[in-house]
Amino acid sequence: MKAMVVDDERDVELLFRQYFRKEIQQKIIEFMFAFSGEEALELLHAMKQPPNVMLILSDINMPGMNGLELLQMVKKEFPLIRVSMITAYSNQYYERAMECGAENYYTKPLDFRALKREILKECNDEEN
Ligand SMILES: [Mg+2]
Repeated sequence: MKAMVVDDERDVELLFRQYFRKEIQQKIIEFMFAFSGEEALELLHAMKQPPNVMLILSDINMPGMNGLELLQMVKKEFPLIRVSMITAYSNQYYERAMECGAENYYTKPLDFRALKREILKECNDEEN
């Protein structure tokens, strides 16, 4: 399964690569990283259509396009891609995110165990 992580903090890539090292090695999951909403959309547009990205995990607070704007654009253009939000703003944007079609809402610091459970569950859903 291919997933895209969108966050303006570049350290996030390293965290995902560490916490999902085994799953990446075993090719259970493949990650792409974008560092802005704009870059995420560019990457999606550059892929064979429709993109084979199953899941986008996006930060909300980013310079330029924020994560909620990205969520809405993705839902409009690529309705099959699931989008979950990652934010340091506890529940401030929860309802808005859900209204816009977000799948899940994770708060920072990330609980990678819970996140991994969710993502692996989605991998299984895809196989079944
Ligand atoms: Mg941010």
